[in-house]
Parts: sequence; C-alpha cells; structure tokens
Amino acid sequence: QPTVGVLALQGDVREHQRMLAAVGAQSRPVRTPAELDAVDALVLPGGESTTMWRLARTFGLLEPLRRRVAGGMPAYGSCAGMIMLADRIEGGVAGQETVGGMDITVRRNAFGRQVDSFEADLDFPALGAEPLHAVFIRAPWVEKVGDGVEVLSRVATADGDGTGNIVAVRQGRLLATSFHPELTADARVHALFLDIVKEA
Ligand code: GLN
Repeated sequence: QPTVGVLALQGDVREHQRMLAAVGAQSRPVRTPAELDAVDALVLPGGESTTMWRLARTFGLLEPLRRRVAGGMPAYGSCAGMIMLADRIEGGVAGQETVGGMDITVRRNAFGRQVDSFEADLDFPALGAEPLHAVFIRAPWVEKVGDGVEVLSRVATADGDGTGNIVAVRQGRLLATSFHPELTADARVHALFLDIVKEA
C-alpha cells in the first residue's frame, strides 16, 4: 500500500488528506526532507504559491522536491500546487521559483477580478461521462503545454477564442488541476491520482 504525502508548508492540507482517505490511500503531511524521503507520492495543495515557494526554500525542501519529481515520483498539484509543478509561470512575483517537472506555462490569478472565484461543471473525459463540479479560487490556467502534456479538461471563459482555457493536465506521473477537487465531495481526481501512483 503506497503512502501519499501532502506538502504541508501552507494550504489546504487536511482537505486533501480527507480525499485521499476517501479513495483508500494512506497519507501523511510532509514538511521536511526526511518526511519527503518516506513517501511514495506527493500532493501539492492549493494555497498561495509565493508563500509555498518561500517556505520550501526556508525548510530546505525545494531541491529535494525537484529531485524527487525529476526522479519519477508521482505528484498531483491543485491550484497553487499546479503552479508549483509548472516549469514556467506568468504573473509570478519577482524571483518566484517552482519545483517544476511539467512542461507547462501557467498564468497566476488568470481569471481576473470579475471571476476571482467561481464554480463550473467541466467535461473531464478521463473521469467518465459525468461532468466534474469544479471550484476555482483565484486560480491559474495553463497557457501553454509542451508536446508530452495531455490536456484533460478546459473551462469555457469569456476570453474569446472559443476553445476554453486549459484547467487540467497530465504529463506522465504528474497531474495538475487549476481547481480544488478537495473542496467538493467528488473524489474522482484523487482516484485518478491514486491509479497513477499504483501504476508507478
Ligand atoms: N492565487 C494563488 C497563487 O497564485 C493560488 C490560489 C489557490 O491555490 N486557490 O498561488
């Protein structure tokens, strides 16, 4: 039985642990390099990516996180966690760094002031035919994806291009969503992540 860590520097850690329990995964918080060494996979929660980055630096976790992700550890990032897994950020604060690993460019706070926070029912074919109710809170979107990145879902917005903005992606063992499935009762995203963990 794999153990899934939840990066617990800042953000909605307990909500992810609750979802992981709901899909039958063991989880524990990760705050130190030693705790990171002891897990098989990692969830990076929603919160505030600038704070998460600064705390990861302070706690000596940024390099260990990069090594584990580069070494093939499965990881799932929601919202700020998606930003942490992105190779490139638009709209970050000066010097803002990420763990990286996903060949994506994310735009922070992309949806702008009017729709700062909103909910939407998404088509998410990898989770089946039933739409996924998604909660967006000052969310990023994925502005560009590299060749190895699978687009899992888009949200229709008023940006005018008609195709919608990318809000869920997978690249190998890395999964990321702009929204917060941990704040709903639908555990399918966490179940998908657990499948990735078990395959690995
Ligand atoms: N806006 C936050 C950031 O840039 C993310 C918000 C969230 O995780 N709900 O880090």
